Amino acid sequence: MKIMKFGGTSVGQPQRMHQVANLITADKEEKIVVLSAVSGTTNTLIDISLHLSRGDKTGAQQKINELENSYQQFIYELVKTSAFKNAAQEVLKEHFEFLNIILKISYSEALNKDILAQGELLSTKLFSVYLSEQDVQHVVLPAIEFMTIDVDDEPQIGNIKVRLLQMLQQYGQEKLFITQGFICRNAKGEVDNLKRGGSDYSASLIAAALEASSCEIWTDISGMHNNDPRLVDHTLPVEQLSFDEAAELAYFGAKILHPASIWPAQQYNIPVKILNTMEPQAKGTLISEDISSKGVKAVAAKDGITAIKIKSSRMLLAYGFLRKIFEVFEKYRTPIDMITTSEVAVSVTIDNEIALDKIIKELEVFGIVDVDREQAIVSIVGNEIVSDTDTLKKVFNSLSNIDVRMVSYGGSAHNISLLVSSHQKVQVLQQLNNGLFGLWPT
Ligand code: ADP
Ligand code: ASP
Ligand code: MG
Repeated sequence: MKIMKFGGTSVGQPQRMHQVANLITADKEEKIVVLSAVSGTTNTLIDISLHLSRGDKTGAQQKINELENSYQQFIYELVKTSAFKNAAQEVLKEHFEFLNIILKISYSEALNKDILAQGELLSTKLFSVYLSEQDVQHVVLPAIEFMTIDVDDEPQIGNIKVRLLQMLQQYGQEKLFITQGFICRNAKGEVDNLKRGGSDYSASLIAAALEASSCEIWTDISGMHNNDPRLVDHTLPVEQLSFDEAAELAYFGAKILHPASIWPAQQYNIPVKILNTMEPQAKGTLISEDISSKGVKAVAAKDGITAIKIKSSRMLLAYGFLRKIFEVFEKYRTPIDMITTSEVAVSVTIDNEIALDKIIKELEVFGIVDVDREQAIVSIVGNEIVSDTDTLKKVFNSLSNIDVRMVSYGGSAHNISLLVSSHQKVQVLQQLNNGLFGLWPT
């Protein structure tokens, strides 16, 4: 059994869906195909929800109509025969009727999640209509019936496994299953989601639950590149990454993978391949337990970081000081990304500001608190780069003109992280592209 996940652009046009059908039927291996929403749909659904949360029903209605028109055009090109055009119309009717009904219901967080789920429901059902027109035998598995998260929004692998196996057993001889990425059910039994870009996470969780032979992430670029191609000219695909390297890159901002999408596959040692739907013959990136290739592989950056410094003379020789500080973050369920300490101060970074005011108030008991917003973490990732002094030298030589606020070195063998001001992020990525990879901007 293998898992094949196709992202928004891979299903973003009718012709692309046709291509996906070719790719999933190219071999006879049993597979679960995980689809994202058609590109742009989730953004529009978020917009609809935002209009509703502000009580702007006219604005929401206008967005729903625009979205429906784009889907009318989509199905017109997706299927040919009138019977299947009717079937596709039925799918649109069901989901757009739902969106029109919610205009009359008062807004809530649960309703917001229901709205966001419509994208993946539409893409999988429309794709299923196309497969049926092509006479491709398949089954649609509703993600909501097996993908569950607990009270802390953590996926429940054990549960997912039991439910998925039960569902698959019902379909004895079937070989091709289609399901929604992103969507799940939460501990309250409501429809929920795995956060933006969550279809990668769905695929990896399904792969782990079924101990699949591989997990293929099909997207719009030929693999993980050495740097962010949206920000830096002249980037190159990386052929192989270890699980740890890929996890660091995903967590520290490489948008191509959901931040948490590597650990499930890693836990069950399932190779993850990043492949290009538009160029299927390209090699892409293989993510596996192989750690033989050394040296810097890639850099990534994560925006929206806040740095907090707590300065206290009482820190001097005081054991238990760090514990007290960390307890404040634990109390407000705010994860810390980077930490640096000196004799009299400790600096940490967070990417979730929801509880910031309360956190600052409690930290002020321990000393003077300084907060710097709009920071970015730039991570340099590669196997054992921390034991290679040459890398560190190159990093600092490339960035001699940059004001580096924090450095994290030695925490992991394969990651050097720097904190810089957000407005210098692109410049830092460009200079590292040159200094570490010898790639000049074109
Ligand atoms: P999908 O819709 O298939 O999930 P995403 O848009 O989520 O695709 O991810 C693919 C995009 O990630 C690429 O088109 C690229 O712009 C962006 N990206 C950011 N960093 C990297 C990187 N290091 N390597 C490759 N792509 C990256
Ligand atoms: N459709 C969702 C999003 O746009 C999930 C995904 O594409 O992975 O975030
Ligand atoms: Mg994505």
